[in-house]
Amino acid sequence: MKNIDWKSLPFGYVKTDYNIRCYYRNGKWGELEISSSENVELHIASTVLHYGQAAFEGLKAYRGKDGKVRLFRWEENWKRLQLSAETVLMKPVNKEVFREACFKAVEMNSEFIPPYGTGGSLYLRPFLIGSGAKVGVSPADEYLFIVFVTPVGPYFKEGFKPVKMQLVKDYDRAAPMGTGHAKVGGNYAAGLRAGERAHHEGFAASIFADSKTKLYIDEAGPANFFGIKDGKYITPDSHSILCSITNMSIRQIAEEIGLTVERRPVAIAELGSFEEAGACGTAAIISPIALIQDRETGEQFVYTTAGEPGPWCQKLYKYLTGVQYGEVEDKFGWCEFVNC
Ligand SMILES: *Cc1c(COP(=O)(O)O)cnc(C)c1O
Repeated sequence: MKNIDWKSLPFGYVKTDYNIRCYYRNGKWGELEISSSENVELHIASTVLHYGQAAFEGLKAYRGKDGKVRLFRWEENWKRLQLSAETVLMKPVNKEVFREACFKAVEMNSEFIPPYGTGGSLYLRPFLIGSGAKVGVSPADEYLFIVFVTPVGPYFKEGFKPVKMQLVKDYDRAAPMGTGHAKVGGNYAAGLRAGERAHHEGFAASIFADSKTKLYIDEAGPANFFGIKDGKYITPDSHSILCSITNMSIRQIAEEIGLTVERRPVAIAELGSFEEAGACGTAAIISPIALIQDRETGEQFVYTTAGEPGPWCQKLYKYLTGVQYGEVEDKFGWCEFVNC
């Protein structure tokens, strides 16, 4: 075990010992390589640097109550990377390569997996970039796939606490027929201005309205939105949002614990009727929302004033993190053990 102060680990980058790489050259993927360098050497004309041929994934490995290491739903991350690769015309990484790279990255850095009880986990960041040189706008002939890992602490330092979010209509993160459904680099650059402004104005994150009509909720910067009312878990259906694996999992848990799941457009006009609201993604699992303020009208939708998440958010969070840490039966078969 590394000498790390696990309790004060930030949600940020900490150097680990190894990362795993694979190159696509001359029309085929090569062998996996183990690297101890934090750097990559790239051609100055690589398409990732100019034309945004880049996609990433994020998933976590957890050290459980029984001491075993569980990797959560990696196959879903692989499927989504396929989709992202197709979206910006990159060479897809096959399932075996993805799996082996992820498992190797965890095994080889096992000393960086936070101990059970610290609230931490090992975050895996697989990514795929166009590394080949092109001056005209076209897809590269060479690609690079890397998996690096970094230990992360709990997303919320003071525990599971509701946050304020800002609804924005004067910036779009993704066009209706654009790339919002894929985890591709450009989407995040497009959302930076709104996100930074939201932080500056005192909010944890921005929530985007749909870019065409501005009447519906799309999603929060890097997390899906959900609202709960009348025993229903309601989450937006839109082509321009990313299909969150955390949200997929929460929908199954919601049904398990007695909520009805609705996946449909969620009107801004409906925000006032929710009893609870939250954002979900791998980083925080669930960020309960204390209030949403519409930046344009100043209108506020308040979900909790007590500083505590609502009861459904708590139940969903407990269940999902329980499965991840081996405290709750994994009846959906979401976790795969890593041998380390
Ligand atoms: C990664 C991401 C999410 C969360 O997806 P998970 O699979 O749950 O981590 C949600 N929205 C966007 C835009 C994302 O990039």
